[in-house]
Amino acid sequence: MAVGTTETTETSAPATTPDAPAEPQPLPLVPFEHPAEAPRLTPVEHQPGQALYRSVLPGVIQVPADLALAAARKSSLWPMTFGLACCAIEMIATYMSHYDLDRFGIVPWPSPRQSDVMIVAGTVTKKMAPSVKLLYEQMPNPKWVISMGACATNGGPYTRYDRVLQGVDKIVPVDVYVPGCPPRPEALLDGFVALQELIMEERKAAGS
Ligand code: SF4
Repeated sequence: MAVGTTETTETSAPATTPDAPAEPQPLPLVPFEHPAEAPRLTPVEHQPGQALYRSVLPGVIQVPADLALAAARKSSLWPMTFGLACCAIEMIATYMSHYDLDRFGIVPWPSPRQSDVMIVAGTVTKKMAPSVKLLYEQMPNPKWVISMGACATNGGPYTRYDRVLQGVDKIVPVDVYVPGCPPRPEALLDGFVALQELIMEERKAAGS
């Protein structure tokens, strides 16, 4: 019978690695020998943006919605393709490669349903006026009208003709008048630039 037996265990000494290489210490940012320079040599602390969208969606540009809409509208005008008289030849020339309206984002469109610009190019007779008015009414809003040439603006050389409308603004609202008989393609281009400026000004007026 074993009474009061006690076990004794020996604790082994920790293993030592002789001659272990010392860990390389990082160099101090500020030399110890010039502690007075420490405040001036401390790196600038990075301040993240305060607005939440800058951290959630970095690189996003914020612009007013009406500015973006106006810029999109003026950069993708779709004039309806129809002509009434000799001014239409100059309008067609403006669409051709030499003047190239496409570079302004201006694309001719053969339907009033998707067009937003009506170029009244030529003499508006009283026989044709109801059709011009109907085409304008079939265009969706927002829409603009360019009166191209003297005939569309005030009857031009037909001021004494009873069967000629003395200005297309009698039946539809006109935004830009292009003078000439006929106006050259450069004049129509200038009219489009004026219309683009008008669209941006409309945006300012609507936002005020
Ligand atoms: S303004 Fe001159 S060029 Fe133009 S439709 Fe009239 S007559 Fe013809």
